[in-house]
Amino acid sequence: MHELSVTQALLSIVLEHAEKAGAKRVVAVDLKVGEISGVVDDSVRLYFEFLSRDTPAAGARLHFTHVPARLVCHSCGSEFEPGEGEWLCPQCGATGGRIIAGRELMVESIEVE
Ligand SMILES: [Zn+2]
Repeated sequence: MHELSVTQALLSIVLEHAEKAGAKRVVAVDLKVGEISGVVDDSVRLYFEFLSRDTPAAGARLHFTHVPARLVCHSCGSEFEPGEGEWLCPQCGATGGRIIAGRELMVESIEVE
């Protein structure tokens, strides 16, 4: 369900840009997806196909770029990429931190005709 609303938001951004550019058709969409955004590429693809019917974005190719998670340690302030299921600061060994990347889901660019 999460991906449905997310994809709806993405599609409206894409259509808005296409309209501004005076495009007849959207050929491709580049998306940036954070590793910990909880978004599954295939679900977005499916929903996009479904939602974009009868819009200029119908049939557009989706391309996903994955952004790794990055944290800032609460205790020492160093930045690090957490390992699989393990959010330990490599500098001081503290657990967790503030997420500064990896949650994003955005339209990087679109290609129109
Ligand atoms: Zn630390």
